[in-house]
Amino acid sequence: MTRDTLRLDGRSVVVTGAGRGLGRAYALDLAGRGARVVVNDLGTATDGSGSRDSGPAARVVEEIRAGGGTAVASTADASSAEGTRSLIDLACAEFGSVDGVAANAGIYRPGLAFPEIDEGLLERMTAVHAFGAWRLVHAAWPRFTERGRGRVVLVTSAAGLYGMAGNAAYSLLKAGIVGLTRTLAAEGAAHGIRVNAVAPVAWSRMSAATEGVEPEVLERMREEAPPEAVAPVVAALLADDVPVTGEVLSVGRGRVGRVLTGETPGIRSADGGPLLGQDLTERITELLSVEGMVYPASAHETP
Ligand code: NAD
Repeated sequence: MTRDTLRLDGRSVVVTGAGRGLGRAYALDLAGRGARVVVNDLGTATDGSGSRDSGPAARVVEEIRAGGGTAVASTADASSAEGTRSLIDLACAEFGSVDGVAANAGIYRPGLAFPEIDEGLLERMTAVHAFGAWRLVHAAWPRFTERGRGRVVLVTSAAGLYGMAGNAAYSLLKAGIVGLTRTLAAEGAAHGIRVNAVAPVAWSRMSAATEGVEPEVLERMREEAPPEAVAPVVAALLADDVPVTGEVLSVGRGRVGRVLTGETPGIRSADGGPLLGQDLTERITELLSVEGMVYPASAHETP
């Protein structure tokens, strides 16, 4: 018997990229808590190549229904305006409303040095990670503001937060999710809309594709970091019980942590005028010291 008591009975949620990996775990977990789920997945290869496959989304819906839950499948392209609009329309047509969205669909092509990433790959990555997240929330936003309530979970990554060699395009786009999360949280607050992001760590075909990681580390990840361990945090952010917005949470292996963007007190010129070039060379230790860090809640609060 589950010890987890968080419920989303009757809530209607759209999860993109829900045919496999983390998205599948989110969809199953949400349905198990009583949510009605639009399970979206285009069914592509990890790097976004290959033709559309309706199998992954259909199988997750079957699994949900077999467990007594409510779900509907969609193979819409979650990177396109038309596709994301169709997902919101589907939720409203099938379930009468949309209460939350999780923009989880993603593609990955690791192990390419910066000069090797061509325009085509950059554009494909941008379409899914940036435009996909943007468009899904954009399509849902009017429904949320109409009802004075909405929940958004976006997906960032340690690669975007902290950097990861061989992942320049992915890092660029996942870092952008952080700014989008905090800005939409600020704009959504007056409308009852909460916007948060997760930076998951979980075993999936995507993490298995990561290059430069020792096989033992990957094996440990497979055993210790199942996607199911991230799902309860996503469910909590889509529910009412956890009153946070604008947060970025690092999640995996039975742990959740708060990710903050901070600024050191830094150095100031002696006379209040512009700093001199040599101030940086002479006072670099002081500049880099993290003592007295501040964590602005918005761009209006920088030191
Ligand atoms: P995955 O490859 O197992 O699943 C991603 C799913 O998205 C696939 O089923 C794929 O078919 C689907 N998809 C891709 N493009 C799509 C599109 N345009 N429309 C609809 N569906 C589409 O990967 P995952 O590890 O489960 O990743 C899920 C999300 O989590 C991604 O955004 C990824 O960047 C992010 N992430 C994962 C990890 C991790 O440790 N696995 C870490 C950080 C971030």
